Amino acid sequence: MERGINTRCLHLEETEGKTENYGAISYPIYQTATYAHPGVGQSTGFDYSRLQNPTKEHLEKVVASLEGGIDALALSSGMAAITLLMEIFKPGDHLIAEADLYGGCIRLFDHVSKKNGITFTTANCSKDDIEQFIQPNTKAIYIETPTNPMMNVSDIRKIAEIAKKHNLLLIVDNTFLSPYFQNPLELGADVVVHSGTKFLGGHNDTLAGFLVTNRADISEKLRFLIKTTGAGLQPFDSWLILRGIKTLGIRMEQAQKNAMAIAEWLKKQPIVTKVIYPGLEEHPGHEIMKKQARGFGSMLTFSTDTKEHALAILSEVKIIKFAESLGGVETLITYPTTQTHADVPEEIRIKNGITDCTLRLSTGIEDCKDLIAELTEVFEKIQSK
Ligand SMILES: *Cc1c(COP(=O)(O)O)cnc(C)c1O
Repeated sequence: MERGINTRCLHLEETEGKTENYGAISYPIYQTATYAHPGVGQSTGFDYSRLQNPTKEHLEKVVASLEGGIDALALSSGMAAITLLMEIFKPGDHLIAEADLYGGCIRLFDHVSKKNGITFTTANCSKDDIEQFIQPNTKAIYIETPTNPMMNVSDIRKIAEIAKKHNLLLIVDNTFLSPYFQNPLELGADVVVHSGTKFLGGHNDTLAGFLVTNRADISEKLRFLIKTTGAGLQPFDSWLILRGIKTLGIRMEQAQKNAMAIAEWLKKQPIVTKVIYPGLEEHPGHEIMKKQARGFGSMLTFSTDTKEHALAILSEVKIIKFAESLGGVETLITYPTTQTHADVPEEIRIKNGITDCTLRLSTGIEDCKDLIAELTEVFEKIQSK
């Protein structure tokens, strides 16, 4: 019987029944760059930390188990992970990419990958017929679901079928839901990307990234690349992410509860013109999410009637921090126009629906009543002006 995800967040089956590391319950931080050899031509299994480190390896096994992959690679950030992944493609290759991706991804594809000879067609993967964009040199489909920040939901199973039919890789950035709520490999994806900085780490205290796959050929390529390019996660950061993962489940549940309550509250506010949260029944992706995920997450986007109101909210909040990033225990509010999506050309930003009135909220695990009380106070103050 497969163990539940909360158990898998804490225990790695393969190391059980042993009292390695003096029986330490918290996996030790092997803060070492290199390893002594028992003899010529012999190895402890570890030779040099760019290749592998025990703390990092333990974390990778935990993440692989959470996503149902055969291998997971831990990298120094989400962007380091995506950059490494792009190295499996060669000049002349073509990718179909979701139009409403994380801003840093759009920047990477536009300014680095294109320079390396890779071309892209952007598609609204939640609506468009993707098959029409496939060219003879197309090698992969790259999606996020729900997207950042517009929360568009794509049908992973359906896109995976198209990918299989045309022999393309399906890459899914699963950062927004984490393996607690969604497992794209089980739905037909070949590679899952995570910014471990977000829900997996969960404490806004370090950066990390992951690539998870269930294909031996891809794992082999990525292992060669990580050892060659050197962006692996460091031992202490690996330990921080391991510690964060221990509470993934209870954090995701509490943050989701807060998101649902705030989404309902926002809907009733006269200065709010739109609330986009997949947990709301009226969200166009609600039914698909029910089929492919176990929850709706804690990311929501809303629009105010004026830019001035959006800016006033950002300057008045106190418990809720006006900061980039998401997925941590603290509630954060973001202004995509000048933060996460500042480098995305204005016309594309507007086309994707991001305006001067768009705000993105990542709910944390605070008491919901305190978050609502703060929002009530802020909205009353703004409206009385
Ligand atoms: C933050 C984020 C990234 C980039 O990860 P970093 O850890 O910040 O480098 C990629 N994808 C999504 C969806 C993100 O939210």
